[in-house]
Parts: sequence; C-alpha cells; structure tokens
Amino acid sequence: MKYIEKLLKDFQNIPQNIILHADILRRGIKLNDDLKRAGKESCQTGIATKLQYHILNQKDLPPSQFHFKSDETTVDIKVNKKSPYEIKELSSKEYHLCAGDRDFGRVRFTRRPKYADKNTSDGQECQFLLMQRGSFCLLVSPLDFCAYLKKDDACKYCILSPAMDIAIQRKIMKPIPDHKIIAEAVEIACKEDVKLRDLKLSGGALYNTKKEAEYYKSCLSAILERIDPPEEITIFSQAFDKEDQMDLKEMGATNVIFNLEVWNEQLWPKLLPGKSKAIGREEWIKRLKDAVDIFGRGHVSCSFVAGFECAPKQGFLTQEDSFNAYLTAFEFLLKRDIVPSFTIWTPYPLVGGFKEKDPPDTEWYLRLGVKHHEMLEKYDMYKSLGFPHYGVDPPTLGLYCYYCFSMQFLRDFPRLINRD
Ligand code: SF4
Repeated sequence: MKYIEKLLKDFQNIPQNIILHADILRRGIKLNDDLKRAGKESCQTGIATKLQYHILNQKDLPPSQFHFKSDETTVDIKVNKKSPYEIKELSSKEYHLCAGDRDFGRVRFTRRPKYADKNTSDGQECQFLLMQRGSFCLLVSPLDFCAYLKKDDACKYCILSPAMDIAIQRKIMKPIPDHKIIAEAVEIACKEDVKLRDLKLSGGALYNTKKEAEYYKSCLSAILERIDPPEEITIFSQAFDKEDQMDLKEMGATNVIFNLEVWNEQLWPKLLPGKSKAIGREEWIKRLKDAVDIFGRGHVSCSFVAGFECAPKQGFLTQEDSFNAYLTAFEFLLKRDIVPSFTIWTPYPLVGGFKEKDPPDTEWYLRLGVKHHEMLEKYDMYKSLGFPHYGVDPPTLGLYCYYCFSMQFLRDFPRLINRD
C-alpha cells in the first residue's frame, strides 16, 4: 500500500486512473473468488484464453479486462497472487477495485458475448477464434504459428511462440487456421452482439514475410466476403514490404502497427534474431516510413516492449540508458510521422529464466509514459489521432482505441487529462 500511496503522491499531476492502470499492468491483480465468479459472466476470448484454458488447464479464468465505471479506463487483467490489487464484489454484481483498505471505485466487465456459446460449421468455438475487447472491435489471427521458434530465433521475451507450438503439437490449433472458418465466426459475432467498427488482424511470424502477408490478405478477403467493411481495419504484423502494404490498403486496411519491440542497435539482432534475419532493423524502419506514405500520419504505429532492454542480464543496458534510448526512439519516429508506443514487459520464467522483479518499477514506466505524452504533444500528434482537444474519447478507434490497447496505459493521457 505504501508504494501505491507514494506513486499517487509523486505523480499527483496526472489523473489517478493512469497511475493505477500502469501499476496494475506492472504488478497484476490477485485472482480471488469474486473475480473467478465474474469471469464466468464476462468476456474471455482469443487465442491467449484458449492456450490458458487448454494448455495450462486454467478453468477459473478471470475476465480479460476491467473498466473503471467513472471514465471507462480499461485495464488488462494479468493474474499475480502477490499483487496488492483485488477486485471485490461489495454487493450483488457491484465490483470495486481495492488495495489494502483503499477502495478505488466501481469497476465493470465486458459481458460474456452470446457468440461465446456458438460454434462454427466445423465445430470450433467462436470464442477462441475471435478476441473481443470493446463492444465494437474484434481481433483475429491469420497465422497461429511462429517459424522462429524451431530455429532458436524467437524474440527473447516471447511466451506466445512456445505456447502456440505446444498447442499445434497437441493438435489444439492448426498453424494456419481456415480463414473461411474465421470469417464465419466473425459473421456470427456480428449477427449476435458485435457492432463491428474496427477489425484487427494479428498473428505469428514467418521468415518469408511475403508469404505471411498472403495469409493476412487471404484472411481479410474471406472476412470481407461475409460482412460489410468496418470503418477501420488494422494490420498488426511484422513490417510488410511496400507492395504488400499497398495491397492491404486496397483491400480496406486503414492502419498498420509494425513493432520494432527493441530500439538499441546492438541489442536488436540479439534479442530479435528471427526478425533480424527476415527483415533487419534498417529495412524495418524503411518499411515503417513507406507505411506513412501509404496510410498517412496517425495511421502507422510502432511499439516497444519497454524495460526489456534493461533486463538485469549481462550485455543489456542500464535502466537510465534504456530510458534515454526510448526517448530517442520516440523522437525519431514522431519526426517521421510514426506513432510510438510501449507495453510494460511481463517476464516469464519459462522464457529466458526472467523473474517477476526483473522489469523496472512502475515509477520508471510512469516517467516514460509522461515523456511519451509530452512528445506526442510536442509533435502535435493527438490531432492526427482524432483528438480535437483533451478530455474526450477518441472519435476514431484504430490506433488509439482504449479498449483494444488495454495492455498499455498511454492511451489514457489524452482521454483523462481535463476530463469533466
Ligand atoms: S515474431 Fe517474435 S513476438 Fe512474434 S510470435 Fe514470433 S517470437 Fe513471438
């Protein structure tokens, strides 16, 4: 509790829910009986849920995220039994975020969608083919496989590639899902409960990025044969070349997110060996710049796994050096009309033997978040992201959808500053 009080005091100039969002992403939430019960009636969709359910045999899953009732700030729920945070049901269906004796107010969960209990024509459960965040967005995966794992080229922080590999070996998932079946699931969801405005596509990775792009195109085309085109389509993948980006744009894609993940030039090939062999850092940056020409300012983004470059391992950076490196990265990208962002690194003992205490403290992330916000202000980027002024929810969704990006706290700055 003392640490939370310290954060609230040290960052009193920024809205409280930004501080809580960052600290909860860093330290997780305790899984108590109230949260388990809420999970049964809430949205738990997507491949990660499927992997937890089938591989880790976790049947008592919490909701995927919670929303503060006061301002809809939306936070990913990552379970950590040592977290000071808990969500308690204080009276029937009235949930509150608590830590020690502090009550941080009422929260709600996205209700369990009706399509969660429906199957596609080949018997697959729609809830595991789709990932739903807000009431108007869906994410699908055109490729449930990362080629880098087998050759020991997986990104050094990634838990998804080994988890997908186990699921493929156990025949729980196919490396390339049937795109017609994904499209069927999207159509079912749209008929049942989703007013789709924003479709996101994100999956594994191949050395041959042309082939990878073909899977994205095939999946998108299958979906668009069954539903009306949504307002926004976001491609969240490795950096595709100009030709593939133009094809995707032609098909209706409005935004791309090509994550560099790591900024430091020396660490890039060591921490991302697969991406390094398939594309390389320089070419990745070139493709991001191409994307701005194709999709426009405010429609191209690049994220980092912040804190990983300063993991306590030999050859990594110090926390202060990596902090400054991210600031250089943000400025470099913004000067080129690319929107930078970052997630909070969550370490997994199974990948690289990292421990829970290895990432920097929440304070470091909040300092970085404040600098990130100031830089977006300096380069007048919020207007290009659809914010006419602070304190309002974004009218466009794509890159600044605070539901989809609940694993980051950056999108709360323009929404919560000066909010009534
Ligand atoms: S490209 Fe990297 S982050 Fe993506 S699935 Fe493969 S190993 Fe994981």
